[in-house]
Amino acid sequence: MTQCLFCSIVSKQIPATILYEDDSVVAFRDIGPQAPVHFLVIPKRHLTTLNDLVVGDEHLIGHMVLTAQQLAAKEGISESGFRLAMNCNREGGQTVYHIHLHVLGGRGMSWPPG
Ligand code: AMP
Ligand code: ZN
Repeated sequence: MTQCLFCSIVSKQIPATILYEDDSVVAFRDIGPQAPVHFLVIPKRHLTTLNDLVVGDEHLIGHMVLTAQQLAAKEGISESGFRLAMNCNREGGQTVYHIHLHVLGGRGMSWPPG
């Protein structure tokens, strides 16, 4: 079984501020927040990058997005607005190689990102 930083959060070997958990996903606060609200939604199953998604993962990705939407509401950023981001590999800015959906809100976001 692959062990990585986020797998260790899934298995509770590394602590995190967990906002939500079910059979397939975990959501927790980002340790280095880039906005007043910044949390991550990850699959419990290890997937290294977005390039590893295959047909059959549609439900998982949709569930991650719906989890993000519901937690954004709980965090009070639905109406003000928020950003979802997934980074893939080096030039995409990925630093942790277990896919994760960033949810950022609570401040204005510029576009395009740097
Ligand atoms: P990325 O650059 O898209 O791979 O994002 C990785 C994110 O994981 C960064 O925003 C980090 O601040 C965050 N991160 C790294 N280690 C931890 C941790 N132990 N707990 C929570 N978030 C983390
Ligand atoms: Zn992992």
